[in-house]
Amino acid sequence: MVQFTQFLSYFSIASIDPEVAQSQAKAFQKQIPLLYTILSANMVTLAYTYYGRAPSVLTVTMPLVFIAVAVTRVFFWRQIARTEMTKESALFYLRTNYAVVCGLAPLMTGWALWLYPYGDAYEKAHVAFFMSITVIGCIFCLMHLRPAALMLTLIVGIPFTIRFLMAGNIVLAAIALNFWLVLLIMVYILFRYYNDFTALVHSQKHLAALNDLNFKMANNDSLTDLPNRRSFFRDLEAALSQAAKDGTVCAFGLIDLDGFKPVNDVLGHSAGDRVLIEVGRRIRETLGPSALVARLGGDEFGFLLFCPPGCCNLPFKAAAVCAAIRKPIQMPNAVAQVAASIGLAYSSPGGSAQSDLLEGADYALHYAKANQRGTAVVFSAQHETAIRVQSRIEQELRKADFNAEMSLKFQPIVDSMRNQTLAYEALARWDSPVLGPVAPSDFIAAAERTGLINPLTEVLFAKALAALKTWPARVSLSFNLSACDIASRESIERIGQMVEKSGFAPRRIYFEITETALIHDFTQATERLSYLRRLGARISLDDFGTGYSSLNYIHRIPLDKVKVDRSFVAGLTTDQASRDIVRSIVELCRNLKLPCIIEGVETIEQVIILRSIGCMIMQGF
Ligand code: C2E
Ligand code: CA
Ligand code: CA
Repeated sequence: MVQFTQFLSYFSIASIDPEVAQSQAKAFQKQIPLLYTILSANMVTLAYTYYGRAPSVLTVTMPLVFIAVAVTRVFFWRQIARTEMTKESALFYLRTNYAVVCGLAPLMTGWALWLYPYGDAYEKAHVAFFMSITVIGCIFCLMHLRPAALMLTLIVGIPFTIRFLMAGNIVLAAIALNFWLVLLIMVYILFRYYNDFTALVHSQKHLAALNDLNFKMANNDSLTDLPNRRSFFRDLEAALSQAAKDGTVCAFGLIDLDGFKPVNDVLGHSAGDRVLIEVGRRIRETLGPSALVARLGGDEFGFLLFCPPGCCNLPFKAAAVCAAIRKPIQMPNAVAQVAASIGLAYSSPGGSAQSDLLEGADYALHYAKANQRGTAVVFSAQHETAIRVQSRIEQELRKADFNAEMSLKFQPIVDSMRNQTLAYEALARWDSPVLGPVAPSDFIAAAERTGLINPLTEVLFAKALAALKTWPARVSLSFNLSACDIASRESIERIGQMVEKSGFAPRRIYFEITETALIHDFTQATERLSYLRRLGARISLDDFGTGYSSLNYIHRIPLDKVKVDRSFVAGLTTDQASRDIVRSIVELCRNLKLPCIIEGVETIEQVIILRSIGCMIMQGF
């Protein structure tokens, strides 16, 4: 019983796997013109042999009507073949064609058997040939519509067998039996083919799903579900060339979070992950669906906005992103807060290279981080000039003879109580033969960018030690180290060796470092500083008060002195707030038991105020 139901189900469209229906319909579509060609050609040939013997309604009218229908059908097929089918429309399409086969097969069979009595032995054999060859051809064409192929086998096969077995002719009976043998083999092939086809479609679907997943993994950031760096820059490239064609402008933004590292360090990595997810969501929400937003790595995000002509609200949008990111982020057990600095660069309407846009946004971001933290800065013509100047400085620095072109200026650090010079800070000067005198803030930064800072520091330190030789023994040397010097073990060891070889009491040498030298890898930096201190040299924290985490770090750094940044001194004589700030910084240093030096002291009035606060050691013009 079960087997019989199973047998019946092979004749039903319901037996078609809906997952496979689309592929089946697509494959079947291609066979339709061939199917009608076989039918028409075979029909015309049989009608021809019976022409004049059978009534013209059979030999002329019916074939002509069929050919007309076939031509219409093939034309109709061309229209359908162009449209994409859904699962449902594919099933509908297969069902309709099944019905057509069920309608046509008895018509054809009836027509052939109607002709049969009009013919002589040869012509009767032609009917047998017509029916068998047509069925085999049609089964081939119906390979992708198994129920129809099976139904066709029965509709043609049964009357065919009855008719020819009953004809009383041994040749015709043999043809009928032979016909069945071939039909059964055809059905077997049909089943095998259908199973292989289904398996192939399933494996193709599986492969396509895997490909989709691979594509997603290769192009998406799994944490934030935003596009990743690779896909972002690919899309950026495409957007730029499209914008160049359209003569429109794109804005590229680079976002860097401020204060993300402490969240990770203090609240843990899962809190850090939550912050990144939330930040990604806020950026996307603020910029809207037309913007392309991506996570470029770490705590860096990027976005691309398209500016229709005349639109000028992009800086506002970027500012809105900063504001959205600044809002506190609620965690299960804590509240995290980060800020964002953004560098923005516009493509030019005539088209811009991706590298130019990147460089511009990167520069604007660095500018924002150095000068306007937590805001969006648009890359401008001034920045462009600054970049040109910087690259000129880098070029000349690469060619420079440090020994000949670099010199030191020594600025005294004075105990204003005893009117005594305690030390000199060595300040680097570069007189370039091409550029003339270059400001130290410019060439030191250029040396850091180009990786020339380590050899430069060594040359300057040798010059400073040579100068120290000529000073009284109670006067010390204060020498600036760059963050890159602290970061390099070799560089620090060479400086240590220079201290040892110099023959001076190492405690006469102070190394000035800024907080930025510590931010990158605090543990490593304090190890290096401890090494210098073990040699007997001492450490001053430079530009104190300008950093962000001074209070977090200061008690953990091996320090001997603190230098209060000159920006606090400027308003000392006019502004009560400045006085209060300096007073509290001095108080803080006293609590930490660290002597402090006030930098940037220019006037007698400032000296008097500083003395009244209890601050005796000063440096300045
Ligand atoms: P810094 O270490 O904070 O150096 C103090 C800067 O303040 C010097 O500028 C100095 O000329 C300036 N200054 C000192 N007193 C006064 C004052 O009363 N008023 C005003 N307005 N300015 C004053 P300079 O020489 O231009 O150096 C700038 C920065 O360049 C230095 O800041 C330091 O970070 C860096 N630098 C200078 N020489 C070296 C060096 O040999 N190595 C390294 N790594 N950096 C250096
Ligand atoms: Ca300094
Ligand atoms: Ca300083």
